[in-house]
Order: sequence, then C-alpha cells, then structure tokens
Amino acid sequence: MSSIQFQPFCCKCFRRLEQRDGALVFSCGDYLCHICCSDSTFQSCPGCGKQNIKSLPLGNNLPEEVERNMSDIANTLQSLHQTLAFQIKYYKQTLALMHPKMEDLSPR
Ligand SMILES: [Zn+2]
Ligand SMILES: [Zn+2]
Repeated sequence: MSSIQFQPFCCKCFRRLEQRDGALVFSCGDYLCHICCSDSTFQSCPGCGKQNIKSLPLGNNLPEEVERNMSDIANTLQSLHQTLAFQIKYYKQTLALMHPKMEDLSPR
C-alpha cells in the first residue's frame, strides 16, 4: 500500500515542516518550524493566537496520541483492514461451529 504521509505546516511562515529537529507542536494542534521556533518561549500560539498553550518539541519521544495524529493513514488503514478480516473470519468460523449444535437444541 502506498504511503499517505502526514505533512504538517508551520503556523507562522506556512512552510512545510522539513525536519522534526527544533520544531514544536502546540496543544492547540498547530505546528511551528525550526526556523520560527528560534524566538524563545510562547505564551500564545503564533498561528491561532490561543493563550496558555503547551508546546512539545517534535522529537522522537512524543506521547502516543501526538505520534498517532501524525501517523501514516495508509498504515492505519492496513492494520484496520487486517483486524476486520480476522474478526469476520473468526465470527464465520464460530457460527459454523455453533450451527449444528443449535439444530440439535431446536425443538422438533
Ligand atoms: Zn515557520
Ligand atoms: Zn494554534
């Protein structure tokens, strides 16, 4: 399956984030590139202006939910497909096992 890589943009200069190093993600969901990050700390988001936001460096130790938001949708769809295929097969298999037993139980 092909890749549908998520491409965040900087909320200040609107350039594509070319590297994670030095870039930030804010709790409002906006991203800031490594160039715009150089001006110290942020009280508010330079993109949407939201106050009292938290920022995280886009390193390799991002919380799972942040990482998941940025994950490749193609991978997510593939694993969803595999789970679905397994569960459908399981139910079919189990129904096939149950079916003769249910016939034994039914009143004649
Ligand atoms: Zn920028
Ligand atoms: Zn924002």
